[in-house]
Amino acid sequence: MYKFIDWSDIVVKGNQSGVKKTTCPSCSESRKKKKDPCLYVNFTSGVAKCYNCEALGFRDSDTKEIKKEDYKLPSQEWKNHTDISDAMVKYIENRGINQNTLKALGITEESYYMPQVQRSSNCIVFNYFERDILVNKKYRDGSKNFTQSAGTKNIFYNINSIIGQKECWIVEGEFDVLALHQVGVKNVVSVPNGANDNDDYWASSETYFKDVKRFIIATDNDTKGKELKDKIAQRLGRYRCDFVEWSNKDANDDLKEGVLNDTIKKRKQFPVNGTFKVYDLKGGILDLYDNGLPDTMKPSGYYFEGFGDVFSLMHGQLTVGTGIPSHGKSNFTDWLVLNLINEYDLKGSWFSPEHSPMQLYHTNLMEKTIGKNFWKKKDGVERMTKEDINKYEEWANEKVYLTGADGDTLPTWDWLLDKFKEQMYSYGINIFVIDAFNKVLLPQGNKLEQINIVLTKLTHFAQSNNVSIVLVAHPTKMKKNENTGIYDVPSLYDVSGSADFRNQTHNGFSIYRSWGDEDLGTEEGTSFYNMKTKFNFQGEIGASIDFNYCPVNGRYYVKGSEPPYFSIIDYDPKEKQEIQEQPTEQIPTATLSEAFDIDLGEDIPF
Ligand SMILES: [Zn+2]
Repeated sequence: MYKFIDWSDIVVKGNQSGVKKTTCPSCSESRKKKKDPCLYVNFTSGVAKCYNCEALGFRDSDTKEIKKEDYKLPSQEWKNHTDISDAMVKYIENRGINQNTLKALGITEESYYMPQVQRSSNCIVFNYFERDILVNKKYRDGSKNFTQSAGTKNIFYNINSIIGQKECWIVEGEFDVLALHQVGVKNVVSVPNGANDNDDYWASSETYFKDVKRFIIATDNDTKGKELKDKIAQRLGRYRCDFVEWSNKDANDDLKEGVLNDTIKKRKQFPVNGTFKVYDLKGGILDLYDNGLPDTMKPSGYYFEGFGDVFSLMHGQLTVGTGIPSHGKSNFTDWLVLNLINEYDLKGSWFSPEHSPMQLYHTNLMEKTIGKNFWKKKDGVERMTKEDINKYEEWANEKVYLTGADGDTLPTWDWLLDKFKEQMYSYGINIFVIDAFNKVLLPQGNKLEQINIVLTKLTHFAQSNNVSIVLVAHPTKMKKNENTGIYDVPSLYDVSGSADFRNQTHNGFSIYRSWGDEDLGTEEGTSFYNMKTKFNFQGEIGASIDFNYCPVNGRYYVKGSEPPYFSIIDYDPKEKQEIQEQPTEQIPTATLSEAFDIDLGEDIPF
């Protein structure tokens, strides 16, 4: 178990500020080098850590902060159970984990009521410490039943182990933490719920990850484990993550087989920008070989029929949408992104100060999602009901996030990207809409240079985090056709007078509205133009597709098709196309047992 030092026992000469080194009240007395300053004291954060005995000290009692959301704390009398029975120790030793590791991780044994079997069983107990507070206890009996203290805080297991560390390993179960600790990897945490990726444990662990420079993700070697690996990398930013693939199912299996020391050395990088050996990219190359070109994202509802041939997006890309004011570029962008969110199970964040207040903006997104008008019965279509609003809320609560600027000053790009990073981490957001470019303050200096820098930052952000950014930008020059007197379709070159908008972005589109003119022979409608797609399989540059606008709900639908008045939440376009969709696997809530691997029928002596 981590030893805890009383802050008052720490002796630091001179002024008590910054980071100081001193002797450790816990171990220095018994060491040969009694004067070795093995204790690092950080007066700014109020944390002390000994690099010899790993004892921790905290200046402030954190009970209030740790408990702030009305979490319950398990009984703090955990020390009464530290004597582990011979049978339990032997059983765990069979898994290759010795008593020192059990002690170091504070594993205990306790008889506890297991709801699954409706009786008390003797259990192995994983004690979840946050700083010096026991915030949760997980109980596992000999028959793989799991339970935990009720109403407790959801946080990574062994979170104390990464305090003051530059690297952090993330595994999928408590036994994997034990296995890695056994081979000397001590800075290792485990997700608390097996393969479930929840926002709450990320939020409660955030402060502990702040100083970590590099993450090594080592989830189970199965489908769910690999999905979890991708989700974790997505949140943390792929550029600062490595991953390790176990030879067997998990770290504990590799330990039992005696190969764990080898597998932990084979770190791989996620494909982002940078320098890579073939080795790093081998997985991706084989994926291309086996599965062909990567899937691009495009809406597949009938009201977007043919759109995918013209244009599609991919994660890791910056897409710029432009159009003459009042031609509907924001409306089109929102409708496009809502469809992608719905069909590809994305989470979206809008920074759209032009469309405040936020509740009003939600009515707009709601009309597009539900298909009815928010305010009134319109064109024979009933007004949206309160039930519809609830339905939207249920759908959008975890999928649609609006970002507001602080105060009344224009936000800067650095502020906005920091915000995005935060949202990526806390909520797993993977598509960002910025509406519009001129609503974020450019730094002082040469304007064209600054635009170039901002676009570089945005493309870098999209690439390194493997997320999508859709940026709405107004054209600065609008050219009229000399013969007709009608405005030309603005191109990416017309945005902010900078060729960088064409050169620096991955994709671009232009929205052009015609009001219809008998003399000119034009019909009313809105055209979508592909101004650029990065890869040729994403669409056809220069191609366009015509839409009609639906005033009832602000949607666009391909010219000649039926206006869609139904909710996209319930609509499955793939079903309509009679494509057999694979059933999405329901992740069971009690996957903890899967994170701990015992052979069925294995006789467990406790
Ligand atoms: Zn010490």
